[in-house]
Amino acid sequence: MQREVGSFPIAPSIRARLVAAGFHTLHDVIDLAVSEVAGEAGISEEAAQEALQILKRQGSDSQILKHTALELLEQEQAQGCIITFCSALDEILGGGVPLGKITEICGPPGVGKTQLCMQLAVDVQIPECFGGNDGETVYFDTESSFRVERLVEIANACVLHCSLITQAHQEEGHSLAMQRFTANNILSQIYYFSCQDYIELLAHIHTLKDFLAKHLKVILTNQMTTRIEPRESFLVPALGDSWAHAATSRLTLHWEGMQRYATLCKSPGQKESTIQYQITHQGFRDVQTAHPEMDSSKPEINPRKRPREDDTE
Ligand code: ATP
Ligand code: MG
Repeated sequence: MQREVGSFPIAPSIRARLVAAGFHTLHDVIDLAVSEVAGEAGISEEAAQEALQILKRQGSDSQILKHTALELLEQEQAQGCIITFCSALDEILGGGVPLGKITEICGPPGVGKTQLCMQLAVDVQIPECFGGNDGETVYFDTESSFRVERLVEIANACVLHCSLITQAHQEEGHSLAMQRFTANNILSQIYYFSCQDYIELLAHIHTLKDFLAKHLKVILTNQMTTRIEPRESFLVPALGDSWAHAATSRLTLHWEGMQRYATLCKSPGQKESTIQYQITHQGFRDVQTAHPEMDSSKPEINPRKRPREDDTE
């Protein structure tokens, strides 16, 4: 619904002139230049500018309020998430790393942040018929840690997983999708940018504005650093606590002895939980359990199309 110009807190004499000139709703006036509004309404340019400022500021506030909670819920559900190939992690995240939101992944050196990002860069491309996103990836590397050979291993494992599902189900849609879903095609849809510093990162983001509007799923990784204080030193996220407010969720990867753990420490919709994971030749995975029948290391891309036990790698 378009808000009436008469309902904005503009000086009454100016408001009356605007309405008399035919500017009844926000839509009638919002895209016009100051000089046009001034000319048509017979007011000074200063008055027109002031009125336009009020209309734009308060008009955008009313735009923010235009969704109902149900619409927001539907939008969220439509966006979905990226599976990690670690089903325990997907579960605590509510299905995987959410699309359309910022997830901060932090943890000490060597724990697996880059491995997880490379896994996600591949997984976001899983075709929709397998329950994936059929997406593309823009990867900003600020630490020169991107290893394309490693990416090939992860991509091959993902392709193999989908081809085993295809063999098991014999569905035409799967076979067609697999013609395109190859390691080479996955690599060709990962757009890689190396950034030496924060300034370069911002510059890349600005030059990619149009591209980002259509594609980017943002994963932010925040390396841990040691904060030295007089008596003790602490391991803290290197980007600082202020980033905690920018990210919707924070996932902390950490060690307990020789085991790797992931803790979801901040999430608007999921409870705080910790799970164990491992990094294998194939990528980011669940830890094998002692009971094969309870083994969750075989990810289900789409639970509705659950592959049989012998379908997976
Ligand atoms: P940093 O903060 O230094 O960037 P990080 O958290 O990004 O560290 P990663 O590079 O993601 O760490 O993880 C490195 C770990 O991944 C190594 O310790 C190694 O154990 C594991 N890893 C890497 N490649 C393989 C592989 N092919 N097979 C098994 N494990 C691997
Ligand atoms: Mg890294």
